[in-house]
Amino acid sequence: MPRPARVPDQVLDLLRQGTRHAWTMEQIAAGLQQAGRQADFSSVYRAVERLLRDHCLERVALGDGTTQYELAGQHHDHVRCVRCQALAALDCLVHEPDLRAAERASGWSILAHRVVLDGLCPACRQHGGED
Ligand SMILES: [Zn+2]
Ligand SMILES: [Zn+2]
Repeated sequence: MPRPARVPDQVLDLLRQGTRHAWTMEQIAAGLQQAGRQADFSSVYRAVERLLRDHCLERVALGDGTTQYELAGQHHDHVRCVRCQALAALDCLVHEPDLRAAERASGWSILAHRVVLDGLCPACRQHGGED
């Protein structure tokens, strides 16, 4: 086994280059391969799981059951392209008074939120939008 402990660092390096906002597991594996890394898919998978546990990465769960991964950081919300699945960050879309109103209306205590809007990214928008 060629030094599996270093795969998490390779994953972090790749994500810090910032060529995408968020990555699927497949995109991470492909990105490492392109960079000439030798990590196979299962070591990439284990590295991502490890980085999630260490709070270096966060999951972005999308409504269709798919997941992308991003560097952990300040809270933000997302917009996803319905055509190419690209994901972009948005400033938080939920305002504190709305959360408090939702708590009063529901009787629940709200701990966190994740908003993912559907949209068309600029590239897909240029290529004919809604067909
Ligand atoms: Zn994000
Ligand atoms: Zn938010």
